[in-house]
Amino acid sequence: MSIDAVLKLMKDEEIEYLDVRFTDPRGKLQHVTVICDEVDADFLEGGFMFDGSSIAGWKSIEASDMKLIFDTESVYIDPFYAEKTLCIHCSVVEPDTGEAYDRDPRGTAQKAEAYLISSGIGDTAFMGPEAEFFLFDNVKYSNSMNKVSFEVDALDASWNTDTDYEMGNTGHRPGIKGGYFPVNPTDDAQDLRSEMLSTMKRMGMKVDKHHHEVASCQHELGLVFGSVTKQADEIQKYKYVIHNVAQAYGKSATFMPKPIKGDNGTGMHVNMSIWKDGKPLFAGDKYADLSSEALYFIGGILTHAKALNAFTNPSTNSYKRLIPGFEAPVLRAYSARNRSGCVRIPWAESPKAKRVEARFPDPSANPYLCFAALLMAGLDGIKNKIDPGEAMDKNLYDLPAEELADIPTVCGSLREALDELQKDMDFLLAGDVFTKSQIEGYIDLKMEELEMYEHTPHPVEYQMYYSC
Ligand code: GLN
Ligand code: MG
Ligand code: MG
Ligand code: MG
Repeated sequence: MSIDAVLKLMKDEEIEYLDVRFTDPRGKLQHVTVICDEVDADFLEGGFMFDGSSIAGWKSIEASDMKLIFDTESVYIDPFYAEKTLCIHCSVVEPDTGEAYDRDPRGTAQKAEAYLISSGIGDTAFMGPEAEFFLFDNVKYSNSMNKVSFEVDALDASWNTDTDYEMGNTGHRPGIKGGYFPVNPTDDAQDLRSEMLSTMKRMGMKVDKHHHEVASCQHELGLVFGSVTKQADEIQKYKYVIHNVAQAYGKSATFMPKPIKGDNGTGMHVNMSIWKDGKPLFAGDKYADLSSEALYFIGGILTHAKALNAFTNPSTNSYKRLIPGFEAPVLRAYSARNRSGCVRIPWAESPKAKRVEARFPDPSANPYLCFAALLMAGLDGIKNKIDPGEAMDKNLYDLPAEELADIPTVCGSLREALDELQKDMDFLLAGDVFTKSQIEGYIDLKMEELEMYEHTPHPVEYQMYYSC
C-alpha cells in the first residue's frame, strides 16, 4: 500500500491512532501509539525515532537512539483497542546511516529474503508455520496475599460442601486427551477458536481452519503460508489475537513449548518451499517426489539442526518438549511417513504444494529469526549439495537402542544449543544476513535466561531431595 493509500485509509476509517509495532530479539511484539494529528506523508516516509535502550539485547543507554521504518504493506486495524487504531509493523535502522540495525530480527528476515534472490537459487521462500498453543483458566493475581488465600479457601470450602447430588453427572467430562477431535461439548473451546480465526480474517489475515490439538486444552489455528518476513508478521498477529481473545474469555493462552509434563508439547512446525519465476523448486522425481534441491535443503537443515535449535527452540522449556513419545522430534532424520523425525515430507496433491516440514521448531521462537535461520540452513544445503542420507521410514520412537545409537539427535538443552550456535554460525553469516555481533548478543541474552533457570531451585528438586 502506498503512503497516500495509508493516509486515505486513515481518513476513510476515521482512525485516531497509529500503533507503531516492532519485535525485540526474544520475539515479543512491542508498540508505541501515536495520535493521528502527527501522522502525515512526511511522518510515514521519515520514520519514527525511539529509545532502544529499554529493549533487552539492543543498544546501551549511551547510544540508544534508533529509528523505526514503517512497512506500509503491513497495516491493519486493531480489533481490540477501544479507540480506532491502525497498526503498522516496522524494521529498525541506524538513525545516522539509515542502514538496517543488525540486531533487528525483522531486518534479518528481510536480509535472508534478499540473500535468496542474490544466490540465484530462487526468488521466494514460503513458510507455513503451524503454531500450537494451550488455553488455561486465567489465574487472577492480587497484590494482597490475603485476598488470594481467601479465594483459594473459598474454593476449597465450596468443594467440601458439595454433596454427590450437587456434583451432578460428571460422565460427560472429557478424559485426558479427550478433546482431540470429538465435537462439543467434549471440545469446549469451539466458539473461542472461531472468534480467534474470524478476528484474524477481519484483520485481513489469510486463515483456513482451527481444531483442538492432541493434549488437553491444546489448540491450533491454520494460517495460509506466505513469504518469510510477511509470514513472521502474521505469526506476531496470530499470537496477539490468540492472547487477546483468550483474555476476553477469562482464559490465558500460552505458547510455551511444554506446559504439562506427560502430555504433548507445543510445536510450531514450519512447512517450507522455494520458488523461482513462479515455479516450485521442491517438486521432482526423487524420494517422496522431491527435487534434488529439496533433498539438499533437507541436508542443510539436518546438518545445522543443532545450531538452528538456538533460534527454533530458544527457551529452557523447549527441551522438555523434544523428548520421545509426544509427536515431537528427537532424531535428526527425515521421512515422508512418520512424524518422529526432524523433517517430514507431507503428502502433496500437486507439485505446487510440495514442501518440507521442519518439526522441531516451537513457538517460543522469534519467528523472524526462526524462519531466516531455517532458510539459511536450507540454502547452505543447496549451495554445498549436502546429502541428507537415506530417509528413515520407520517409527523412530520404536527403534531398538543399537539402531538409535547411530542416529544423531537435536540438542538436549538450551545450553547445548547455544554452544552449537557458537561453533556453527558461518552458514548464518553468509551474505551478512546475520552478523557475528548479533549472534553473540543473542547468545548473551539467552545465557541470562539459562542462568536464571539453572540457578533457581526447582519444585521437583524439593520433591526429590528435600528430605535427603
Ligand atoms: N504437538 C506436537 C509437537 O509438539 C505436534 C502434534 C501434531 O500437530 N500432530 O510437535
Ligand atoms: Mg497442523
Ligand atoms: Mg498440530
Ligand atoms: Mg504439521
